Amino acid sequence: MTIKENYSLKELNTFKIDVKSKYFIEIEDETELKEVAKEYNSKGEKILILGGGSNILFTNDFDGLVIHLNTKGIDIVSKNDKEIILDFQAGESWDDVVLYAVKNGYYGIENLSLIPGTIGAAPIQNIGAYGAELKDVFHSLDGFFINDLKEKSFSLDECEFGYRDSIFKRELKDKFIITSVKLKLSKEKNFKLNYRDLADLNKLRKNITLEKVRNHVVKVRESKLPNPKVLGNAGSFFKNPEITKQQLSDLIVQNPALPYFKSPDGKIKLPAGWLIEQCGWKGKREGDVASYHRQALIIINYGNATSQSILKFTQEIKDSVISKFGIELEQEVNFY
Ligand code: FAD
Ligand code: NAP
Repeated sequence: MTIKENYSLKELNTFKIDVKSKYFIEIEDETELKEVAKEYNSKGEKILILGGGSNILFTNDFDGLVIHLNTKGIDIVSKNDKEIILDFQAGESWDDVVLYAVKNGYYGIENLSLIPGTIGAAPIQNIGAYGAELKDVFHSLDGFFINDLKEKSFSLDECEFGYRDSIFKRELKDKFIITSVKLKLSKEKNFKLNYRDLADLNKLRKNITLEKVRNHVVKVRESKLPNPKVLGNAGSFFKNPEITKQQLSDLIVQNPALPYFKSPDGKIKLPAGWLIEQCGWKGKREGDVASYHRQALIIINYGNATSQSILKFTQEIKDSVISKFGIELEQEVNFY
């Protein structure tokens, strides 16, 4: 077990914030994970599980132990003619999981291609894109509580998945370590192509394949979203706000062009990127912080932005959205 001290996290968070952790360890083995969690928890040190660091903003040096989870492995739990249940170790890269599914003819996660990070972090905010969400294919997950190492499996219902949300982002934040995730994938053709950016695929009709959907999603994402290896960012900084019918009617009077989406459960979602753009932020830069010129919801670090400058910039965005639309944006990124 090699614990490093005063360890730089700059290359381990996609926002590229230059902070250090008091202690740091890279873990590839679950037994070792438990040992280290037990030891540092009993010493009273805070513990942070780090996957790909693609949904995090470090606001300070981390005063505790950062565990970079790198456990790998895929097991088949069960299969029949219609579906397969697979168990993935938490440190597997999410996009490798998608690639594995696509190559083997398993349907359900192709729309989630190219989302950065690990599968262990995917349940935290119930990752979603282009009309698909993790919860649609989620079977269960395993892990343990940091305080007493007690193991628990969580079923779909127990995870309390919501829109970019779960119990692990709320009550169990930083209390439970996810060690593996089981997905139930379909062996039967079933595509979700309602999003405008995927509409072209409908033209392929019967010729549509998993590979074609994945390649299309990758192409669209590469053309519209900043590559974190080139430009520091953590994806969408804020969640898309959900509003009531009454709020929508009031807002439409003032803003007839307001785009909105009704979900099957009757909720109304507004694209936060549009609200931010309307307030004049799209492409705006202050020092090394900016709102991305192709998608205003993504905040960029051009190189030497500090978390303080990002917090100031995003607070200004929040203030202007409240003042123009009366809507309070909620951050999607996890602050530490
Ligand atoms: P990290 O950033 O390392 O961690 C995030 C949180 O999860 C932290 O609180 C961490 O402690 C916790 N955590 C991580 N692993 C575990 C574990 N094993 N057990 C317990 N807690 C854990 N998200 C979407 O939903 N849809 C998108 O389309 C999308 N696109 C993105 C595009 C870009 C360019 C970027 C930079 C980000 C995007 N994201 C998107 C956000 C991000 O990729 C996801 O939220 C992803 O699931 C984060 O995974 P990670 O391994 O990087 O998590
Ligand atoms: P987009 O297609 O320009 O759409 C803007 C917003 O409108 C999206 O956030 C999306 O909500 C919503 N939307 C668009 N079409 C919709 C439909 N038919 N039904 C319901 N909602 C609809 O978005 P984008 O920036 O290019 O991103 C594409 C996809 O990747 C989106 O699903 C987005 O969530 C995802 N993404 C997520 C992150 C992240 O960090 N969370 C980063 C980049 C991209 P939804 O967000 O609910 O889909």
